[in-house]
Amino acid sequence: MPEHRIATELAIPAHLISQVQAKLAYVDESIAGAKISEDGTSIALQLRADATPELEAKVHSVVAEMAKGASQPKVEVLEDHLGRSVPYAADPMPELLARNEVSKEHTGIYSFGPLVAGVIQIFEDYFIELATTFEAKPQRFPTLISAEKLGRVNYFRAFPHSLTFATHLREDLHVINDFAEHATYEESGLSASLESFSKIQALLSPAVCYHFYFALADKPLPGGQMAATAVGHCFRYESNNLTTLERMWDFTMREIIFVGSADYVLENRERGRQRVAEFLESIGLAYKVESANDPFFVGEFRKQAAFQNAFQLKYEIRGKLPFKDSTLAVGSYNYHQDFFGRHLNITLPDGKPAHTGCVAFGLERLAYAFLAQFGLDPKGWPAPIREAWVG
Ligand code: AMP
Ligand code: ZN
Repeated sequence: MPEHRIATELAIPAHLISQVQAKLAYVDESIAGAKISEDGTSIALQLRADATPELEAKVHSVVAEMAKGASQPKVEVLEDHLGRSVPYAADPMPELLARNEVSKEHTGIYSFGPLVAGVIQIFEDYFIELATTFEAKPQRFPTLISAEKLGRVNYFRAFPHSLTFATHLREDLHVINDFAEHATYEESGLSASLESFSKIQALLSPAVCYHFYFALADKPLPGGQMAATAVGHCFRYESNNLTTLERMWDFTMREIIFVGSADYVLENRERGRQRVAEFLESIGLAYKVESANDPFFVGEFRKQAAFQNAFQLKYEIRGKLPFKDSTLAVGSYNYHQDFFGRHLNITLPDGKPAHTGCVAFGLERLAYAFLAQFGLDPKGWPAPIREAWVG
């Protein structure tokens, strides 16, 4: 595959390299991979076709929009336990694949066997128990999410690149018969004309807590505060970045969700963090918690990321991956201020919009980081997990 180097017009600051690199996947369909040099002055693109002048212009515009004038955020580290010694250092993937514990069904789409499912269940049991300490009531949410409601909370503006759309064949005898007779899977996807498909009413849900806010929309918040918990499949199309288990198109998230006054949400987010810290200490996981931002698309990135940072809206739990000396976000502590309350008209007893926040865990990533630190043999696992293991 041809490689094409582009010298950047400004050096991409170190703190933005991974975020700009992830966005380059969405710049042009010819891009199969992108790597930014450590000093941020050069981009190596793996291309499926020859570079066009338009491609370079698009790359430069992404760099300019995301990096020009960007100031380095102060990364706030709330917990640092990366130094904890853990017993395992190998890459767990080859063995997980060999044992059919992980099977790749399609790019970004994976199935898991009993070992991974069992580890996830142990974490799930803990989160469900944790949720009861907040009197968070269980909820069940759909996998589809309303396009109308997502539009109401500006999701299309903030994260257009990672959306996954749900559609169906148009209600038309000819269209359906034609599809039934001719549709086949080709290398690039299903052969069917785009005109056969309906307009988009729904998408595959990118998060869990949105459903709760939608359910509370356009009314006063019962009792002035609420806590809830739910698990759900989430979908984020991460393009060329979907190469390993670390980034999946379809993954599951457990959330504990708080809706109420600013104080109520912030106090519970903090309480959640402290309780999770005690749990992670009890199992000896190597991780840190630090401030972070959501992966906003290019045009929204600089302003929104700076805003999240300035108001301490997001912290990530980053689990260590010893085999590659890096970390992976396995969960997050989020505060949305009154954003959802305002856009969805969820009101507090004093008539003001409700504040919201959530504690979210990526279940596959948590299991992956755990297995990367403790290995696949339950005998090597920390006592609380070994004792809960029923395999
Ligand atoms: P977020 O709402 O972005 O903070 O996501 C919450 C958690 O979901 C993250 O900390 C990850 O553990 C997990 N997660 C987010 N995106 C992905 C993905 N593409 N693949 C697997 N897990 C993910
Ligand atoms: Zn959430």
